[in-house]
Amino acid sequence: MNLKDLSSLGRDARGGARMPVLFVGHGNPMNAIEDNVFSRTWRDVGRALPQPAAILCISAHWETWGSEVTAMETPRTIHDFGGFPRELYQAQYPAPGSRWLAGETASAVSHSRIGLDFDWGLDHGCWSVLCRMFPEANVPVVQLSLDSTKAPRDHYALAQELAPLRSKDVLILASGNIVHNLRAMALPPGGDFNTPFALDWAREANELFKRLIDGHDHDALMRYQSLGSAVQLAVPTPEHYLPLLYALALREEDDVMSYFNDAPVAGSLTMTSLKIGPEQGGT
Ligand code: ZN
Repeated sequence: MNLKDLSSLGRDARGGARMPVLFVGHGNPMNAIEDNVFSRTWRDVGRALPQPAAILCISAHWETWGSEVTAMETPRTIHDFGGFPRELYQAQYPAPGSRWLAGETASAVSHSRIGLDFDWGLDHGCWSVLCRMFPEANVPVVQLSLDSTKAPRDHYALAQELAPLRSKDVLILASGNIVHNLRAMALPPGGDFNTPFALDWAREANELFKRLIDGHDHDALMRYQSLGSAVQLAVPTPEHYLPLLYALALREEDDVMSYFNDAPVAGSLTMTSLKIGPEQGGT
């Protein structure tokens, strides 16, 4: 490979640099305020990223009929959880919104209508991660909802249409959990939530998912409901799994992929996360 080839890595046809894409397993909302192995890794991943012009977040916690993007100037911090310490409810992530990115997102997608939303804000799937990755809250953030009328294949197709945003310095952050069954949660001996611990089916499902991700078998990942009983237990509802498809759909041929926080917690959750991007942006 010569110097010219090297310099073209991670650049689009117009010659612009391409931003990485992240899928983050967000897990416990306490990661927003707790100093633990997961939140420290988010901080380190954030420091290694190029500075984005804006962030587009697809979070498991915003499902709508039809697709919407937040378009308000100052999105509120949504504390969409119950039973946590007061400190977590007091946490604020005052990042500005971006009408520019809301408009770019809506116009990038031609096969679905994307409506502008002025009511939502930033839910914890978004801000609990970003308050670690971008603690200064100085990068504008827009959320794109999960359209609950869409099949996995339609989500994947919509995500592919977002690709040009990467060349406009937009960081795309998909936030969910690949394995996520809150009803089956079980703490390990000692009772520490963050000690790696998986029930057998959760481990089996996570390993299968990683094999399919590594093998680029996106078709099988879209047909996850036919992957057997371990996966059915791992993905009892689609909303935490679907953000993974957004990140995978945005993977270009010359992108490299790395895992981080690849650990199970509470028996039935995995924090397994992905960074996809041009090689020179790797951690
Ligand atoms: Zn969640």
